[in-house]
Amino acid sequence: MRSPVVSWAGLLLVSVVAAEVLGRAAGWGALGPGNPEGRRVAVTFDDGPGPQTAELLSVLSRHGARATFFVTEPAAKVHRPELEALRSAGHQLEAHGRWHIHALLLPPWLEWSQVRWHPRAHEAGPHLYRPPYGGHSPWTRLFACLQGRQIVLWDVEGRDWTSGDAGTLAEQALRRVRAGSVILLHDGPAVTPELLDHLLSELAARGLQAVPLNELPPGHIGFRAGIRRLLSSYGR
Ligand SMILES: [Zn+2]
Repeated sequence: MRSPVVSWAGLLLVSVVAAEVLGRAAGWGALGPGNPEGRRVAVTFDDGPGPQTAELLSVLSRHGARATFFVTEPAAKVHRPELEALRSAGHQLEAHGRWHIHALLLPPWLEWSQVRWHPRAHEAGPHLYRPPYGGHSPWTRLFACLQGRQIVLWDVEGRDWTSGDAGTLAEQALRRVRAGSVILLHDGPAVTPELLDHLLSELAARGLQAVPLNELPPGHIGFRAGIRRLLSSYGR
């Protein structure tokens, strides 16, 4: 007879794998790209605010573009002036977690708190949440639903955490961009302002306007888009 411990461990393992494959990699049911027939894209930045925020703001303003910033609680506390600068320049502020920790490394009671924190918690919603690393635990979707948070992922990565130069990274990202795309960048890497400059120039040349997510607006990731995400998550 199988011991109950083995059965529980098996169930836990299946839930963890399902959260990773269905939640993070495929992203089914989360928010992602918007209308492919429109003329808009959304540029999003994770991890800020920080010392790089002012430079990103000046590139955005030079191009007349507005973006969405997914901020963490520690960064928002340390960089209050930058947070206010984002707000007053008309960019959209959303949550990237109370800690920058993958959901699978948090016990459920801490993940509850992770999902709950939001830089505009006192304002009317919608309130968006992008989990650090896009990571999902078996609880992530349930907690987001119970707390009125909508999970947002992306369809194009700027890969600004790699060692590529701005021109090459922009070219790689632009190959995947289409109308409605949600582009993932970071507020932190040294290469990002120049990469952003390349991206915004080419987006404008293609007649695509960079808008905050609430003006895109994002759509739910469906079956086929989820399959594409799965393939690109696990090696293209
Ligand atoms: Zn992050």
